[in-house]
Amino acid sequence: MTTNETGNTNYLLTPGPLTTSLSIKQAMLRDWGSRDADFIALTARIRERLLAVANASDSHVCVPVQGSGTFAVEAALGTVVPWDGKVLVLINGAYGQRMARILGIVGREVVTIENAENEVSDTAALDAMLARDTAISHVAAVHCETTSGILNPIQEIADIVARHGRSLLIDSMSAFGAIDVDASKVRFDVLMASSNKCFEGVPGMGFALIRRSVLEGCEGNAHSLSLDLYDQWQALEKNGQWRFTPPTHVLAAFDRALSEHADEGGVAGRHARYAGNCGILVDGMRAMGFETLLPDDVQAPIIITFHTPSDPKFDFQVFYDSLSDRGFVIYPGKLTVADSFRMGCIGRLGEDQMHAALDAVRATLSEMGVTQCGRARAA
Ligand SMILES: *Cc1c(COP(=O)(O)O)cnc(C)c1O
Repeated sequence: MTTNETGNTNYLLTPGPLTTSLSIKQAMLRDWGSRDADFIALTARIRERLLAVANASDSHVCVPVQGSGTFAVEAALGTVVPWDGKVLVLINGAYGQRMARILGIVGREVVTIENAENEVSDTAALDAMLARDTAISHVAAVHCETTSGILNPIQEIADIVARHGRSLLIDSMSAFGAIDVDASKVRFDVLMASSNKCFEGVPGMGFALIRRSVLEGCEGNAHSLSLDLYDQWQALEKNGQWRFTPPTHVLAAFDRALSEHADEGGVAGRHARYAGNCGILVDGMRAMGFETLLPDDVQAPIIITFHTPSDPKFDFQVFYDSLSDRGFVIYPGKLTVADSFRMGCIGRLGEDQMHAALDAVRATLSEMGVTQCGRARAA
């Protein structure tokens, strides 16, 4: 098989890890010493750039941590929420569920407001619960719930939490970098994300942007040594070095990815490309008869959930394998409300790849003999 311009034989239409550019992969060819001045400068540059993306350079600090995004979520929750804290988690998918689960494991009190996966988080219920339960100290929300691709109303959530004087933690893993979050408008104490989603780096590092005045009071909170972001921050402030072996190649790639992000026009530029990708994919799939789970007004341009076609000839595994043979890797659904599959539109993908993916879907359907792409309806 021949490789494409990203150095791969296929494209990932998934929520991460994603297709990365060849130049980002090439940035990993050097072995860095973790105590080298060059590497210390690289770490500092990444931390500054991430704060700048959120317009949070004056108010927050960026604390990176080794591992996938969940490691950063677990580290941030365990570091910032004190042992006598109580967290309200807004859930409308697997990632909200995961935060509630983490809080249970690390022994913090949790309450939840749950919505179905095709509904945005209920802000009226949030307002009412914060008014009623004054013991709630923190609210944890998911920005784009990658389970469905839904965009939660983060500005409204932040305004309500601020009005009640509570602390907001945002899992912006699959949004930050492509959907604007300005700390001067969206009042958050913590925002969590990772190297490998909308910034298009390689996986291996997560980070949290944490309000400096909040983090200063978090000494000794953490349930864990390696996931203690206060300790991690103190070490970085002291000599610019990571406490434990950093994922040096991941950071080198991330630094390059942040340059490519800036060259594309930052968040606005990346959003424009992803929105274009999403539009092509949704229009093309609808033209074949597929139905999206979500209405367009709550669909984030990140990942799209399609209902499984009603045609008895449709078999997801055959569909998946055949698309994969044609060079496009899609993602199974993870919903409880409907049978579905997902196609991502983030990563190093543009119009040409979206049109080629649609061609691959058409060829696959015709090979399978599938003609009815709409979802099954109750009789
Ligand atoms: C990807 C993602 C995470 C982290 O998942 P990992 O598999 O640990 O990287 C957390 N929250 C959301 C919303 C995500 O999309």
